[in-house]
Amino acid sequence: MSITNAMTIDVEDYFQVSAFEDVIDRSEWENIPSRIPENIEKILLLLERHNTRATFFTLGWIAVSFPQVIADIVAAGHEIACHGWSHVRLSDLTPEEFLADISSSRKILQDVSGQEILGYRAPSFSVTSETLWAYEKLREAGYLYSSSIFPIKHDLYGIPRAPRKPFVVEQTGIHEIPLTTVRMFGRNYPFSGGGWFRLMPYSLFRYGLKKVNNEEGMPGVFYIHPWELDPQQPRQLNLSTKTTFRHYLNLEKTNHRLECLLQDFHWDTVQSVFLGQKKYPTLAISELSGS
Ligand SMILES: [Zn+2]
Repeated sequence: MSITNAMTIDVEDYFQVSAFEDVIDRSEWENIPSRIPENIEKILLLLERHNTRATFFTLGWIAVSFPQVIADIVAAGHEIACHGWSHVRLSDLTPEEFLADISSSRKILQDVSGQEILGYRAPSFSVTSETLWAYEKLREAGYLYSSSIFPIKHDLYGIPRAPRKPFVVEQTGIHEIPLTTVRMFGRNYPFSGGGWFRLMPYSLFRYGLKKVNNEEGMPGVFYIHPWELDPQQPRQLNLSTKTTFRHYLNLEKTNHRLECLLQDFHWDTVQSVFLGQKKYPTLAISELSGS
């Protein structure tokens, strides 16, 4: 029996990504035509074709603006989880502002979905060694798990020293499910989705995830955004070269690659794959802080 991995969708629109926050102010969001309803519909059909359930980490802003989209996701049997209210990174919030953000998001997502919201993913994986206070606040707000740490070295996020496998954060009971990496040549490489999935050949990605499944017996966590399956999205012009490359690379190939991934591996929600009966090691915050 092959291992079941966790399929996750970060539900934000193409103009709500952190990379655009200097060129599109949040106050403009409601005036920009959304691509969310049609892109989510496309994803729901894709998942249905492959008989797959997924976890949708969703912005509170999206739940308020598109309650029918949330209802459609729930009706198809998927898990709703939280991705913050309006995609503000933890480094831009005080702990008290963060608590308000994740509490109000959790409430609206619960009201609209009718599900108990247990999961959280930080915008742009912004749980880093500077924002570890997040776990205490997640506990206060009623969450059970987070999938927010990328155990890699990266210019924008990551805790390279963090465990690659799930763990429980001491004194909070919060389960952290790190994004999937492959350990090679003494360092961790991201094999979890997003821009990396669009950058590397699919055969290499499949090799990495199989290695994690077969050699370590560990389920992987895959993530993708609705806008990554939408090559027709409006183009934003005044971006840096690096941001333009990262956002638009291989968008026209992602649909097919995702089809292959759904075909080649087994998938389910984060809750089904990682929570329930399983016991994970407990880790003190001090073991994650520092470089
Ligand atoms: Zn995001």
